[in-house]
Amino acid sequence: MKLNEVTAKQVLVKSNLPASDYVANPYVGCTHNCRYCYASFMKRFTGHTEEWGTFLDVKSYERTTLPRHLNGKTILLSSVTDPYNPYERTYHKSRELLETLSRTDANVEILSKSDLMLHDLDLLRKIPRLTVGISLCTLDDEFRRLMEPGAPSVARRLHGLSELHKAGIATYLFISPIFPRITDISAICEAVRGSVDKICFENLNLRGSAKQEVLALIDRYYPQYREDYTAIYRNGDIGYWKEVEKEIEKLSEAYNIPFVNFFYHDKIKKGGHSND
Ligand code: SF4
Repeated sequence: MKLNEVTAKQVLVKSNLPASDYVANPYVGCTHNCRYCYASFMKRFTGHTEEWGTFLDVKSYERTTLPRHLNGKTILLSSVTDPYNPYERTYHKSRELLETLSRTDANVEILSKSDLMLHDLDLLRKIPRLTVGISLCTLDDEFRRLMEPGAPSVARRLHGLSELHKAGIATYLFISPIFPRITDISAICEAVRGSVDKICFENLNLRGSAKQEVLALIDRYYPQYREDYTAIYRNGDIGYWKEVEKEIEKLSEAYNIPFVNFFYHDKIKKGGHSND
């Protein structure tokens, strides 16, 4: 991993995501190296020519002051990196930021694929309006290794959610991205029953080079689904997603917690969020 220390202008950036007013990204790049990554466009903005997943910029800031009126505003940590990548253990950039945010009236939301935030439980307990989400697309570690090679195991993520919940922190599972025919929504919901206060869902969106890469992996390792993926990602067929939406609706009847569906981005309403 190529590590760089960089200076960014400010800590919080105004967000155009549907459910957050500000985002904070203490790092540029991401060690999880998800094949479908929605954030790899950051390479263009930051002048990186290396492969996504091979570099990590650790940020310091020119100005550490926060916007004045954070009362009731929602701050998402993070939108284009994982705030609890393994280097957080060395640099504590997310922890520093959370310490500052714990003294504000903001709603703070952490979204990660890691259980590393358990090291910060002491601090998390002190943040008054905190929600912590962990995202997961499978219970199968072989598939996880294929699509999210640098990310923590399924077991670690489930353990993380369970421990956070036991600690009295509001938690949610983000089933994202849903891979057609592969992500077993029902089994994943069952695995977190009792450990989360909400479950959110997002379908797999493929763009740019990630589209070619993911489709090639499916072609190679899951040829039985080739036709489905072609229909969805090459021919724009949304029939499969309508079926999944119905499955989610049905499933929600068996759970006593909110189920929030983030399918079809053009219809996303304020009240939810997008993937990291
Ligand atoms: S965790 Fe998020 S930012 Fe990191 S590689 Fe995966 S999709 Fe990209």
